[in-house]
Amino acid sequence: MTDDILTHSSDKQGILTGSCLLMDQEPEILSLRPEQFADYVGQTEVVEALKIAIEAAIQREEPVDHILFHGPPGLGKTTLAHIIANEMGGNLTSTSGPSLEKGGDLIGILTHLEDRDILFIDEIHRTPKIVEEFLYPAMEDFAVDFVFDKGIHARSHKYRLNRFTLVGATTRVGLLSAPLRDRFGIFRSLDFYNESDLAKIIRRSAALLKVTVDDEGANELSSRSRGTPRIVNRLLKRVRDYSQVRADGIITKKTVEAALVLEGVDEKGLTDLDRKYLKTIIEFYKGGPVGIEAIAATLQEETDTLVDVIEPYLLKVGLVTRTSSGRKASEAAYKHLGFSFQKRMFQ
Ligand code: ADP
Repeated sequence: MTDDILTHSSDKQGILTGSCLLMDQEPEILSLRPEQFADYVGQTEVVEALKIAIEAAIQREEPVDHILFHGPPGLGKTTLAHIIANEMGGNLTSTSGPSLEKGGDLIGILTHLEDRDILFIDEIHRTPKIVEEFLYPAMEDFAVDFVFDKGIHARSHKYRLNRFTLVGATTRVGLLSAPLRDRFGIFRSLDFYNESDLAKIIRRSAALLKVTVDDEGANELSSRSRGTPRIVNRLLKRVRDYSQVRADGIITKKTVEAALVLEGVDEKGLTDLDRKYLKTIIEFYKGGPVGIEAIAATLQEETDTLVDVIEPYLLKVGLVTRTSSGRKASEAAYKHLGFSFQKRMFQ
């Protein structure tokens, strides 16, 4: 067990200070992440379902069922794991699928969990198969099988674990094996946030960062943040810098517009990579349909980045569609990028 894969909610300061964060980043990152349901904006159905499950589990003096969260990056999956640990009064141990290389990595973590602790595995769909197999008995029977020696001398020993809750997060639920998926009692998808929820997050974060933002400024920023709290918080910090240096420190519609030009974020909230992706389909592949591998090769980007980070929002706002024969740019995408849609029809 190493410090950099663990954050205990009861001992966050000490562990984070020791390993992964610069001193000047630490208070800011910690303070923007909501610690309780009352501060967690939006996703009302998910929050309500979790509150019920947690309260029922506490009444029965049991751990809450294993929970799987699905959704694009930055929508609040990790934050929910922190909140669940706080509500259950347990510690949070955080790791990620790709960092668990051997079964032993996972066993080391599992055997240190206490009753009602939360084990959070981010990108759980990227957990190696060999590690995943240790998760099955751990989730189902709170036990792991140790195997000693090899060949004809091999012996196995069942080791009992404390009753913990596994919280998994994935951007691609389709890549999870059926046996793993079926072992989660609660499965919830997080959706992009609407603008009024994002504006609430901006006001909350602005108050924590001690910066003033007017209503128009908050609305403008929320409409350009791709429905994503992590992006809202990141852009808020950039606009804060701009307002401080180029204006009077107050975040207004004007300072948001000017600061986001420098960030390459347009009026729909699209980034350079979003626009390059759409342009590739429109200019290079005549609007599609085109396979994702071909787009990735043309852009020299990882397919996973396009599928996990770029496409979900473009699909959500209807700039791209996914058909059985590939991705197609919509009429709205042509218009947004200033291309003529008619032209494409006659090509
Ligand atoms: P994910 O795990 O889905 O990638 P995170 O939980 O790390 O996303 O969220 C990214 C950041 O966005 C958090 O640090 C937090 O500051 C903010 N955030 C996420 N969801 C919410 C929410 N519902 N309300 C307020 N802030 C949020």
